[in-house]
Amino acid sequence: MSAVCNWCRESTRAPVAVGIVERGTGPSGTTYACPACRDRRRIVPMVDWKHVGDGRPQFYPGPKRR
Ligand SMILES: [Zn+2]
Repeated sequence: MSAVCNWCRESTRAPVAVGIVERGTGPSGTTYACPACRDRRRIVPMVDWKHVGDGRPQFYPGPKRR
């Protein structure tokens, strides 16, 4: 399976489902991230969601800065 990353727009062979797209009247879709963007942007995979909320991508808190 491959999908287009929502952030870098590159096709990835290892997409991670990270969000739900609501398209009004149409069917809802899934937002995917490639592993590189998921790591870099600290995106929470859907399988690790504690709550779905509005379905938009969720992010882990960034490193604390002083
Ligand atoms: Zn990407």
